[in-house]
Amino acid sequence: MDELLVCPRCDNYYQPLTSIGRWQCRYHPGNYDIEKGFSCCGRKVREVNYNRTYVLLGAAETFVPDPKGCTPCDCGSNLSTIHIDTIAQHIDKIDISKWKGFAYPDLYRSKYKYETRH
Ligand SMILES: [Zn+2]
Ligand SMILES: [Zn+2]
Repeated sequence: MDELLVCPRCDNYYQPLTSIGRWQCRYHPGNYDIEKGFSCCGRKVREVNYNRTYVLLGAAETFVPDPKGCTPCDCGSNLSTIHIDTIAQHIDKIDISKWKGFAYPDLYRSKYKYETRH
């Protein structure tokens, strides 16, 4: 269980189990609207920086990264709730003092879910 994965949001390496609950990443819980930006925070993907000189030199910008997330979360693409039983055998490897939010017996992997549950 020491595999390292690359987080699709921040490009950092992370370990699926030991990074649970540590919120080392950020994401947007809302939906993206081309006119209004993200529904959670209103941030928009900026436009490609069009510079005529760069285009002539073949160095035009073709990729614009998404705006930084507004809500802390764990790394990885799967942010669903994890039941503690499924990771029980690995619990002793997890540094609980670094957890940022959880509710027994479920671990909430993002602040957003933690704050909006009732
Ligand atoms: Zn957002
Ligand atoms: Zn990440």
